Amino acid sequence: MDLGIRGKTGLVCAASKGLGRGCAEALAEAGVDLVINARGAETLEATARDIAARHGVSVTLVAADITTEDGRAAVLEALGGQADILVNNAGGPPPGSWTDWTREDFIKAIDANMLTAIALMQALVPGMMERGWGRVVNITSQSVRAPIAQLGLSNTARAGLTGFVAGMSRQVAASGVVVNNLLPGIHATERAYALDKGVSQAEGLEITEARRKREATIPTRSYGRPEDFGATCAFLCSQHARFIVGQNILLDGGASNITI
Ligand code: NAP
Repeated sequence: MDLGIRGKTGLVCAASKGLGRGCAEALAEAGVDLVINARGAETLEATARDIAARHGVSVTLVAADITTEDGRAAVLEALGGQADILVNNAGGPPPGSWTDWTREDFIKAIDANMLTAIALMQALVPGMMERGWGRVVNITSQSVRAPIAQLGLSNTARAGLTGFVAGMSRQVAASGVVVNNLLPGIHATERAYALDKGVSQAEGLEITEARRKREATIPTRSYGRPEDFGATCAFLCSQHARFIVGQNILLDGGASNITI
């Protein structure tokens, strides 16, 4: 299927690895010129080179922490202040217990997983509206639909972003700008590996056993793949997604036992 976005410009945040990279790959395959971002320059450079070489699009990299004002300013400068497509992403907060989280822990999580995405939408969506076309995908989490107790910092911050998008997406849709959230369940990325490692240490299991145990809780009996996630993201950024507005789309292999 032709996604109809060849020649558009897109920003994919936190994209040197994992789900962000999956989204960058799929957008590049559809012909989108990209600015990609992550903190670590070396992996980001390798990712940018690889994507540009395989898909023949322009890939500009900005090594910066997207959760800081300076980081966002650097990314916006690389874009010349405008983009047709915005994929918001950042690392997720650490697991823990509700009894231990401090105000600073909450502020950090809200900054990274709520306010950063809102700031980038505020910077880029007005231009999309003026030009009459835009797509925004916010990578959130299955925990928005089915909260995970030990990821309470993530539950809290992402619930805030979800509430913001529910209102704002409906205010901008008439200008041709489509905003949605994509909710990953467990995908085979370094983040998932780190969570498996935590379980293996806590329960005295081999890491492969911790993963097998978690896979057994997913109806597909396997983790999602960043490339599947990326393909869904690219579809939400396509011409065909014009009538999908303000949705929270769950990609979790059926793991969340919910009806709607
Ligand atoms: P990942 O494999 O650890 O990759 C994270 C990517 O983001 C890396 O490229 C990393 O590069 C970059 N990054 C992290 N913090 C950043 C920052 N402050 N500024 C710029 N770049 C940053 O993680 P993932 O599994 O793709 O997860 C992506 C998001 O989805 C996270 O918020 C995670 O909580 C959420 N999620 C993931 C899963 C899953 O199963 N994978 C499930 C639910 C939710 P640098 O470290 O070099 O910056």
